[in-house]
Amino acid sequence: SQAGETLLQVDDVRKRFGGLVAVDKVSFKVAAGEIVGLIGPNGAGKSTTFNLVTGLLRASEGQVRFKGQRIDGLPSREIAKLGVARTFQHVKLVPEMSVLENVALGAHLRTSAGVFSATLRLDRRDEAAMLKEAAHALQRVGLQDLMHLEAGSLALGQQRLLEIARALCCDPALLLLDEPAAGLRAFEKQALAELLSSLRAEGMGILIVEHDMEFVMRLTDHIVVMVFGQKIAEGKPAEIQQHPAVLEAYLGG
Ligand code: ADP
Ligand code: MG
Repeated sequence: SQAGETLLQVDDVRKRFGGLVAVDKVSFKVAAGEIVGLIGPNGAGKSTTFNLVTGLLRASEGQVRFKGQRIDGLPSREIAKLGVARTFQHVKLVPEMSVLENVALGAHLRTSAGVFSATLRLDRRDEAAMLKEAAHALQRVGLQDLMHLEAGSLALGQQRLLEIARALCCDPALLLLDEPAAGLRAFEKQALAELLSSLRAEGMGILIVEHDMEFVMRLTDHIVVMVFGQKIAEGKPAEIQQHPAVLEAYLGG
């Protein structure tokens, strides 16, 4: 994508669960070559926002656009095929399969007809290409030496990196990461920050939910703050750190 091009546009999106308004008229944008942080206390509606963008949930009101095209209402597989990839707050992988197979299978599920075709034999050339791409994605997150281990044998931080590799495998334009640094050790966080910086330099748009404020403040270009479903502030990291409404929400003032 062209740097600066708007990739994701969320407009007045609202999501109700019964009487609870989990996301309340939230709007924000993510451009190519930009890392946007989505922060806020537990229950603020951050993961729900991810689910609305990626089609796992349907908005009660409002619109979501990717590269100008309405995507709210599309099935999640279609949204993924357009170039939107994500990771989950709670890691989802097949523990008894290898690290490499987890990455390749995830990419295959996103890019092809569906679960059914994934269970059929892949054409040998497709399989070879998929495995090569998966190995490359693992290299980017620094897991290349572990690719033949069972995924379930990895430490939590490594499983998170595996999920990121799986998201990267089909070259997304937009990457959504839900608490990627949780459970990572300091050197893994540093490597993750470097990886995300280089993806940004390549023009990827990144939306990141993360509780590690040092990580968020150091890495992001723009921050959106949610509390109880509402966007209470947005701006550059330095502005957000000084923002009265943010200080009040975080310090309970
Ligand atoms: P965050 O990721 O910011 O911690 P969530 O988006 O997970 O917050 O949750 C926002 C609110 O919506 C919470 O009060 C949560 O309990 C509620 N919620 C999330 N998912 C569902 C669901 N599927 N059904 C009912 N309530 C939900
Ligand atoms: Mg969450």
